[in-house]
Amino acid sequence: MAVLVDGERKHSQPGLNPQYCRVQGSAARAGRHYRYHAASTNAETRMMLRANCLCGSTILTLKGAPVARAICHCSTCRDFYASAMLSATAWNAEAVEVEQATTTVFQHPHKQLSKTFCSGCGDVLFGTNRLGMRVVPNALVARALGGALTEPFAPTMHLFYRDRIVDVIDALPKFLDGWDGPTYDAASA
Ligand SMILES: [Zn+2]
Ligand SMILES: [Zn+2]
Repeated sequence: MAVLVDGERKHSQPGLNPQYCRVQGSAARAGRHYRYHAASTNAETRMMLRANCLCGSTILTLKGAPVARAICHCSTCRDFYASAMLSATAWNAEAVEVEQATTTVFQHPHKQLSKTFCSGCGDVLFGTNRLGMRVVPNALVARALGGALTEPFAPTMHLFYRDRIVDVIDALPKFLDGWDGPTYDAASA
């Protein structure tokens, strides 16, 4: 996910500021009974989310807030994650932990990109991009949140919309390439 990488340098960009919330530990583990409290200015407030793979043998823990949140339409993400588009968050590596390691890592044959998935069920836990950032699919997060993608995780933009294979109608900015480039204009398309 080439462009999400840039979030490391541009995390002060509007719309990408970290959002914090607090999860009750046992409730988070139960998945569906997720609760959080938005904290406006208290930087000490921490968010933690635990997400299980489909078979339950691997637990992913996310700490703090993602650096970037996006839906990527690039062909690399499409092929690598076997999805028409990748809705995901990008994290500093130390914010993403695998608590029970029954995982396999697949290295992309041509690119500095790998993905870590459960050896039992194949569920992708995260990808690792060329800067070592971890890209966590929102499918995993939404399941841990009981099916709803809450604000700290919800995408703020589309990337590489030029390369899409599916049109999306929503209010998010649709960057044709990276987020320092032009956006899609439906009126003139
Ligand atoms: Zn991508
Ligand atoms: Zn599994």
